[in-house]
Amino acid sequence: MGDKQCCPCCGSDQDVIRKGRNDMRTVRHLSVFEKKSYLHVPSIRMHCKRCEVGFVWAYEFVGSKQRYSKCFRSHAVEQALGSTAAHSARMEQAPTSTIQRIHNEAVPAECEWIYEQVWEEAKETSDLVLGVDDFAIKKGHTYNTGIHNLKGETMLDLLPCRKLEELRTYAHVHPDFLLLNPKAVVMDLAQAYHTWISECFPNASRIADRFHVHGYVIKCVQAVRKTVQNTLSPRAKAKLKVAIGC
Ligand SMILES: [Zn+2]
Repeated sequence: MGDKQCCPCCGSDQDVIRKGRNDMRTVRHLSVFEKKSYLHVPSIRMHCKRCEVGFVWAYEFVGSKQRYSKCFRSHAVEQALGSTAAHSARMEQAPTSTIQRIHNEAVPAECEWIYEQVWEEAKETSDLVLGVDDFAIKKGHTYNTGIHNLKGETMLDLLPCRKLEELRTYAHVHPDFLLLNPKAVVMDLAQAYHTWISECFPNASRIADRFHVHGYVIKCVQAVRKTVQNTLSPRAKAKLKVAIGC
């Protein structure tokens, strides 16, 4: 540990002096052999003579005024992301509310980091295949559009819309989207998606996804079955039913 620390006011350590210490700080750190561990560190008072301000020595391993070390926090968050805050709290022997709070504080940065990673990856992929899919959050009410990198198995974005004009606006305000170079885009048969994607990526193949095509095929085959089944013998009728599987 150095002797000096810069003044938060003037940014210089020129006129900074130590001015005693407060009580010891107790900081929860990573568990050791499954036992809780605490670090007891002096809370050193500093003073800048130029600015006439006092401040407390800032440690690298823990944020100011925090009772859990940065290592503990990131470890707890990692554990909570893989399961739940309650599980992480049990493993870490810490209150669930504390782990939940630490987790919530980490989420925005975590999201931003993941967002950057998945977009970077998608932009660098040479044979990118995108998936565009709509889904309702409240059945029949709010429709959203998910944009996925299908081979990378990542979600790139979630749009709170599925109308053509709104999709166009999205592409307009997210220049990164048009920087993608998909060789194919998989989607359902909605006209808005096909128009939008052909505008954004004229060179990409547009593929109707298997789920929707399968749905249409089954519907057609059912219709044909209904028109012909009454002309068949009972045995042939049963056979047909088994063959179609419904
Ligand atoms: Zn100063």
